[in-house]
Amino acid sequence: MKTIGILGSTGSIGTQTLQVVEQNGDIKVTALAAGSNIRLLEQQIRKFRPKLAAVWTEEKAKELKQAVADLDVEVVWGMDGLLAVATEPESEILVTAIVGMIGIRPTIAAMEAGKDIALANKETLVTAGHIIMPLAKEKGVRLLPVDSEHSAIFQCLNGEHSQGRANKIHKILLTASGGPFRGRTREEMAGIQVEDALKHPNWSMGQKITIDSSTMVNKGLEVMEAKWLFGVEMDQVQVVVQPQSVIHSMVEFEDGAVMAQLGTPDMKLPIQYALYYPERRVLPGDRLDFWKLKEIRFEKPDFENFQGLSLAYRAGKMGGSMPTVFNAANELAVSMFLNRKIGYLTIVDMIQAAMEHHHLIENPTVEQILETEKETYEYIESRW
Ligand code: NDP
Repeated sequence: MKTIGILGSTGSIGTQTLQVVEQNGDIKVTALAAGSNIRLLEQQIRKFRPKLAAVWTEEKAKELKQAVADLDVEVVWGMDGLLAVATEPESEILVTAIVGMIGIRPTIAAMEAGKDIALANKETLVTAGHIIMPLAKEKGVRLLPVDSEHSAIFQCLNGEHSQGRANKIHKILLTASGGPFRGRTREEMAGIQVEDALKHPNWSMGQKITIDSSTMVNKGLEVMEAKWLFGVEMDQVQVVVQPQSVIHSMVEFEDGAVMAQLGTPDMKLPIQYALYYPERRVLPGDRLDFWKLKEIRFEKPDFENFQGLSLAYRAGKMGGSMPTVFNAANELAVSMFLNRKIGYLTIVDMIQAAMEHHHLIENPTVEQILETEKETYEYIESRW
């Protein structure tokens, strides 16, 4: 039986991971971590019976302890709690479905403890890819992509590295829906409200990534994620807008052959693929119907009006601590937008200002990454 721990079990990816576990019936959940939704966490504990559960604050931990007093589960909290869940001795795979840079330390701890990572938490790879990738090699652990685009690329590479041969990637064609505001100018996006930005045309996701998809910052983060996962340069990753989200991404090889992975937009597929890799399992749900689909359209991304994407390329090419500044500024800006403290366009303005203000650190340590995050927050808070 496979054994897994989940960071962020109450979120969009976390709950879908547990649906995959339930549908298959042969995975044991050893540890769960959530932030503050202890009602849902309690239900998950009752159903999946992990040995360990973590929440973010001591107060929530006390509440949860009372709620599950009749069960044999240890309740922990804070960063120590996340680290305990990440390194729970019995689990083989850690699903990193937590949102934001808070995932860095637990992901590294899990890898050091020899766990494979089913990676949804892209912020960790974007900011600490230069630490995570060599660590994976050193510890012999697998990074199994959960992001649908990266899972698609991973699937397109099947067999290309077998029999002692590693066929080179010429280009990664990373598809993007373009989000709900595709086709609008920057001026036309000025009055966008939280409710508008939370309506993604194809995917149902957590709030932060939904806003990131609307600004195309998410696509920028994914370009950087692809760079690390597949060992390519930023310029080898080309964003292709494909509004129906049917093609999840493509790889072009040196001979010009292009491999693509297609499917309905359902995150359970990449989640299940990561958990059972290299095995494919039955997955109930809608299938692609090419007669209904009729056509698949492609567009160039609009770098001028969606500057989050241009800034991501700039940050990724500069490397070092710059992706951390890009990501941290975005995390703070998105939370301020969700709390209605700033307007929609200010999200990208904040990222740009923070990047311009920052003095690059070439090869930052984890401590320097976390320090850069803090300094970026302080800079933004002092200016806005
Ligand atoms: P959600 O906002 O839906 O869920 C986030 C999860 O993280 C929740 O379980 C939340 O707990 C938990 N969490 C937040 N803060 C803390 C904390 N301080 N301590 C412990 N747990 C915490 O996010 P998503 O599921 O949408 O996204 C998760 C990650 O996966 C992100 O990095 C995202 O970019 C990536 N991803 C998501 C996709 C999607 O389809 N949703 C697709 C591809 C990647 P609680 O709610 O209890 O507070």
